[in-house]
Amino acid sequence: MKELVVVGGNFAGMTAAFELKRHFKKDVHVTVISKLREFVYIPSLIWVPFGRRKAEDISFDVEPVIKKHGMDFIHDEVIKVLPEQNKVLTKGGKELAYDELILATGADLKWEALPGLGPKGHSRSIFTPAHATATYEAWKEFVKNPGPAVIGAVPGASCMGAGYEYLMNFEQYCRKAKIRDKVKVTWITPEPYLGHFGIGGMPGGEKLLKTFFKKLDIDFRADAAITEVKENSVVLSSGEEIPAKWKMLVPPFLGQKYVFDSPGLGDEKGFITVDEAYRHTTYKNIWGAGLSVAVPNPFKGEGHVPFGVPKTGYPSDEMAKVVAKNIKKTNGGDGEMHFLPYGNIAGLCILDGCNKEMIIFSNHLYEPRKVAFILPDPTGDLGKWMLEKYFLFKAKHGISWAL
Ligand SMILES: Cc1cc2nc3c(=O)[nH]c(=O)nc-3n(C[C@H](O)[C@H](O)[C@H](O)COP(=O)(O)OP(=O)(O)OC[C@H]3O[C@@H](n4cnc5c(N)ncnc54)[C@H](O)[C@@H]3O)c2cc1C
Repeated sequence: MKELVVVGGNFAGMTAAFELKRHFKKDVHVTVISKLREFVYIPSLIWVPFGRRKAEDISFDVEPVIKKHGMDFIHDEVIKVLPEQNKVLTKGGKELAYDELILATGADLKWEALPGLGPKGHSRSIFTPAHATATYEAWKEFVKNPGPAVIGAVPGASCMGAGYEYLMNFEQYCRKAKIRDKVKVTWITPEPYLGHFGIGGMPGGEKLLKTFFKKLDIDFRADAAITEVKENSVVLSSGEEIPAKWKMLVPPFLGQKYVFDSPGLGDEKGFITVDEAYRHTTYKNIWGAGLSVAVPNPFKGEGHVPFGVPKTGYPSDEMAKVVAKNIKKTNGGDGEMHFLPYGNIAGLCILDGCNKEMIIFSNHLYEPRKVAFILPDPTGDLGKWMLEKYFLFKAKHGISWAL
């Protein structure tokens, strides 16, 4: 019986586990290890800081689902991988042997990137259920005594889409709370231009965002580097200091600690080094999927400020599907190995703006593309709502093969 161990129980980890079970059917034992018991539909975290969702509305316990599908679940944190011995060590003292190991552990948040950044400093976070919930509590106080706001992303950040979503929601919730006239809103981004999103933008995207910003009276600085976050302002590398009582800034992401503690596993940022089959570049029975892997950034040097490329939910699932197919192939399956260059994965995203949204689609994440568009959704934010229900349903029922 082959031992297949999946580390991570969210988008990429759940998809990889269910796909392995689907491809192998028998003769394998699949174990999922995750430091969180819950699957969290992270894209809806942008609604938690305004009370539109509670963390528990968008989470569920993965253990019963995994067990129902004939797999084992271990609620524990991996602290080290020993690739030469084919073992993982956990915080709880377990030593697990594997024949194939799939790492789908997402990313950590690099708050130390700037002085004053993050919830222990002077800016709010929406990047974990606990942070998003704390930001909601702080928002309720802010409404009573509002002031200027700076929302954006710091140099090296890659998840600008979530920042834009938070910005648009923040602006609309200020209107709903009747405080908009007291809140000057400024967006600051390392992207070379508005709507680059770390993927080279979309046709007409910059113009569309500029139109929205003008209409909604949102000021912005693009290709801009924040250097410090202070209690009541944000400082830029240009020397400009922008008053800001409220700040929500996307930090850079980096790999999880166990990757740094397992020499040879990841790059200097702690992301797992894989080839286009999502197989480790050195250890052939280790695979990576989702936010935890290192992907090429063809936009380095575009603009003056460094920024990363996003690894969103759809590409995370696609990588996991490729990994499962390739593990089957390398363990006696038919057919060819599957190679999927990261930039060739389709871009599929809904950018929510509170009761309005933009649908973003491209047949490839990076140029060259045959189809690429960004369009306002005439239905309001039905798309984001439907995606949330669909993804939660899919994850709860182990439907990994579908979009
Ligand atoms: C606020 C926000 C909004 C977003 N909005 C969108 C959106 O609208 N559309 C979209 O496509 N994408 C969006 N994304 C990106 C999307 O959430 C990610 O692409 C997706 O979560 C990546 O999935 P993953 O499984 O690779 O990593 P994660 O979802 O981060 O999961 C990592 C898993 O690994 C586990 N883990 C971590 N370390 C360890 C360890 N040492 N040992 C054991 N387990 C471990 C965790 O418990 C977790 O289960 C958003 C992200 C954020 C932060």
